[in-house]
Amino acid sequence: MATNRTFTMIKPDATKDNHIGGILGMIEQGGFRIVELQKVELTPERAGEFYAVHKERPFYGDLVKYMSSGPIVAAILEKDNAVADFRTLIGATNPANAEDGTIRKKYAKSIEANAVHGSDSDENAEIEGKFFFGK
Ligand code: GDP
Repeated sequence: MATNRTFTMIKPDATKDNHIGGILGMIEQGGFRIVELQKVELTPERAGEFYAVHKERPFYGDLVKYMSSGPIVAAILEKDNAVADFRTLIGATNPANAEDGTIRKKYAKSIEANAVHGSDSDENAEIEGKFFFGK
């Protein structure tokens, strides 16, 4: 399995606020190559499927509603050590805890509307990339 790819989404809060360009710029500045890119709106069903792993969490319903509330930008990114380096670039889930210089520190509004998704493992990067791009 590839270890040099990760998957990201720019979430609805960030696309609505015109931060697609700013976030893609930080991604490229961070040394990632954009392999695949697509702007799309998720139905609640598809958002629920993507986040099925969180089905038992109390915020699952809100998360599905939020992720289907507007367009997202899905992308596959390439870089050595992609998964871990991208998690560092995006910062903590809760922007209140995100380091300076991270995407979430700059663009996230809340623990839910936190601007970007980043895969948490090589295995999930592959599954999530296939979910959108079939490869
Ligand atoms: P991530 O890997 O940093 O994205 O974080 P998680 O996998 O734990 O959670 C997935 C997504 O669910 C997060 O990116 C947030 O959008 C949302 N989320 C996580 N924790 C909370 C929470 O406590 N409340 C709400 N409303 N949303 C949350």
